[in-house]
Order: sequence, then structure tokens, then C-alpha cells
Amino acid sequence: MTTPSAPAVPADTAVLADVVVIGAGQAGLSAGYHLRRLGLVPALDGGEHEGAGTYVILDAEPGPGGAWRHRWRSLRMATVNGIYDLPGMPQPEIDPCEPSVDVLPAYFGDYEQRLELGVLRPVRVASVRRVDDDPSGRLLVASDAGTFAARAVINATGTWTKPFWPVYPGQATFRGRQLHVADYVRAEDFAGQHVVVVGGGISAVQLLEEISHVATTTWVTRREPVWRDEDFDPEAGRQAVARVEERVRQGLAPLSVVSVTGLIWRPELRAAAERGVLDRHPMFTRIEPDGVRMADGSLQRADVILWATGFRAALDHLRPLHLRGHGGGITMDGTQVAGEPRLHLIGYGPSSSTVGANRAGREAVVRILDHLSAVDGGHHAGDGRSASDGGHRATDRGPATAGRRDQADPRAGRLVGAAVER
Ligand SMILES: Cc1cc2nc3c(=O)[nH]c(=O)nc-3n(C[C@H](O)[C@H](O)[C@H](O)COP(=O)(O)OP(=O)(O)OC[C@H]3O[C@@H](n4cnc5c(N)ncnc54)[C@H](O)[C@@H]3O)c2cc1C
Repeated sequence: MTTPSAPAVPADTAVLADVVVIGAGQAGLSAGYHLRRLGLVPALDGGEHEGAGTYVILDAEPGPGGAWRHRWRSLRMATVNGIYDLPGMPQPEIDPCEPSVDVLPAYFGDYEQRLELGVLRPVRVASVRRVDDDPSGRLLVASDAGTFAARAVINATGTWTKPFWPVYPGQATFRGRQLHVADYVRAEDFAGQHVVVVGGGISAVQLLEEISHVATTTWVTRREPVWRDEDFDPEAGRQAVARVEERVRQGLAPLSVVSVTGLIWRPELRAAAERGVLDRHPMFTRIEPDGVRMADGSLQRADVILWATGFRAALDHLRPLHLRGHGGGITMDGTQVAGEPRLHLIGYGPSSSTVGANRAGREAVVRILDHLSAVDGGHHAGDGRSASDGGHRATDRGPATAGRRDQADPRAGRLVGAAVER
């Protein structure tokens, strides 16, 4: 594996790169693919600090796979919703019984290696801030491996690291175990116990199904779940994405995908329903030491409360940029943060699926390179335009788009063929 480890960046020097990608899950790798395709190279390739025509991908994980490294083992390739190929390289023949936690990290690792994306890990980004008021100035990306000074940032940090736990009265008094699906390992851990599963999403119903084989369960949700008989056709999928897109365009927090798609009756879920496992109850009103107080006033005894209550976008490191508006979300224009052409969020809101992440990676790269090219129109290459460039020992080789080619990068082209998902 050629994946470089965390770089040794001098403490007093920021590494210059045109584009810094934060996160190397499906979204970050898609961005990496398109950056390479359009001729950019890793900034730290060969140990040289370089500026224009370069990118950096930083990922907090110790190895490839993004969030797929952490899914529970019973989430098999047959039971995931459907994983789109990373751009330009199909998934290998896969045994549907294989756990996704084995298959997908291996596929991602192979992809990174063959495309020579140069992902740097483990590198956790702590903050992103503007260096000054210049709207085309650099963004400083501070990480535990040093600081990177980017002309644009593509944020692809997913949601897995930000599990959402709602707050309920009495929560701290519970004598049993509380866990979020992000911590779930296997149903056998609950053998013989009573498990209350909270949440109306796909994870909730899949885990109810498997836990119910070894434990008794109660299912509670805030709203009556909406079930669909059939898989989504492409048009219905487009409409669902458009609804989330409209929300983020208005600066509202993105909806969860299931709130716009509903739950699909898969055969194992129908069988679970026949066993009475999917009898949904309204949300409990409080948590007590031995269980939960149900809406009808009865006490449901419980050993475990499993919070299948979703995730939020992992964006804490972007706080210094003050992106959130009155709607509680970030106003978006496609993948770009509205009014901030240097920052794109991918795998966020409408693009938080594997197909969405693929498309968003491409959109972000194309728009950023167009933006940098437009900015460069009035400047000489490498003229130290922003404060962060001053005194930097990196050598700018020309404008951001100097190395850009309309054709696929020859190396990537040989590896992955000409097809580029649009
Ligand atoms: C249980 C579950 C099942 C799912 N099944 C499907 C499915 O079948 N099909 C589908 O299309 N979608 C599915 N999804 C949605 C899925 O998460 C996305 O489609 C996609 O995998 C997310 O990719 P991503 O690149 O946006 O994020 P991730 O895969 O989460 O990658 C983000 C990366 O960013 C890194 N990172 C985070 N913060 C930082 C930081 N501060 N600094 C540096 N790196 C950081 C993380 O370590 C991680 O490597 C599922 C989600 C869940 C929770």
C-alpha cells in the first residue's frame, strides 16, 4: 500500500495546496479522482511542498474505507441499500454474504492505491479558518499533522463521527445500558435481555429484526413510520433528493434520507412484522431506572436502550467560518457554501448517499477549478497574492489550472478507463 502516513510538516510553515479535501470516504475519494483526472497532483508527493496544481487529502482514519470501517459485521453486502461504484473503478465480484465492513474498506484501499491518490492518514483536521478578509485568500486547515494553506477546501467528513442522541428526562437514571447504533457490534450482546429500539430509520428496523432473534424488543418512534412496497424508481429517488436539496438551499438543516424516502418492505422485514417485531409504539415520555415510561403511562422494563436516532454532519472543525445561518443549517448552492466559492460540502444533505457523493465530488472539483481559474485571470501565477503565501518556501508552479487537462489524466486513464460519471 503506497498510502503515505501523516506528513512531517514543519511547525512554522503551512503546506500550500490549491485544494485540501477533508475526509476520504466515498465523497472524498470521488473528489480525489476528479482532481487527478483534471491534472492536479498530491502536494506532498515525493516530499516536495508544492503550491499550484496540487491537492491534499486528509483522513482521520488509520486506514481506507471511511465510515464503512465501522459498520456492524451483520451489515452484509446483501443487506446494504446499494453501494455505487467509486468513479472509474467497478467493485470486484462480491459475495453478497460478505460483511460490508470487510469488502468496502478493501475496495477503497485498492482504489486509493491504483489511482495513487496519496491520502494522508491518520490526520484529523481541527479547524478551518480564513486567513484574512480577502475573498480569494487562503483557507488555513489546521490538523494534527500541521497546517495546510488552501485556495479551496472540499469538506467530505460524513456523519459517522457525529451520532445524534436525543435528550429525554430521566436519561441519566437508567440502570441498564444505552448505546447508539454507531456503537452496535452484534445482536448476541443482548441475548436474553429486553431491548428498546428508538428511531424510525433503516438502521432501527434492520437491528430490530436481528436483535429480535435473541432478545425481546420494543420499538418506539416519534412519528408513524412510512412504509413503501417497492424499491425507489429513479424518478422517485430524484424527487427525494430534490426535497433535501431545496431545504439546504434555504439554509435549513438537511433532513434524514429516510424522512423523504420511507422504509421499504424487504422480505426479512415482512417476516419480522409477522412475528410482531415491527409493532411500533409512540415515543416514551421519560426514562426511569428500570425502563421507559410509555406514552400510555405504562412502564416498559428494559435492559438496553438502543438509540437508532441518526447522525449529524461532522462539521465542528468548520465553526471558525461561521457558516450557520438563522435557519440552523448552512445555505448551499449545489455543493458550494452559498457566498463562499472556496468551500464545498460533499456527502452532505442531498449528496449523503454513495451515488450522491460520487456526483458531488465531481461538481465540487469542476466548480472549484473554474473559480480558481477565474480568480487567476487577473493575476500572474505564483505572485503571492494572499497573506498566507508571504514567506512561504513552497514554489508555486503556475495558476491552479496550469496542469489542468480536459482529457483524463493518462495514469488514471490507464487504470480506470475513460468513463467518468457525470
Ligand atoms: C448504517 C448505514 C448504512 C448505510 N448504507 C448505505 C447504503 O447502503 N448505500 C448508500 O448509498 N449509502 C448508505 N449510507 C450512507 C453512507 O454513509 C454514505 O452513502 C457514504 O458512505 C458516506 O460517505 P462519505 O464520504 O460522505 O462519509 P464517510 O464514509 O463517513 O467518510 C468520511 C471520512 O472523513 C473522515 N473525517 C471525519 N472528520 C474528519 C476530520 N475532522 N479530519 C479528517 N478526517 C475526518 C472520517 O474519518 C471518514 O474517513 C449508510 C449510512 C449508514 C449510517
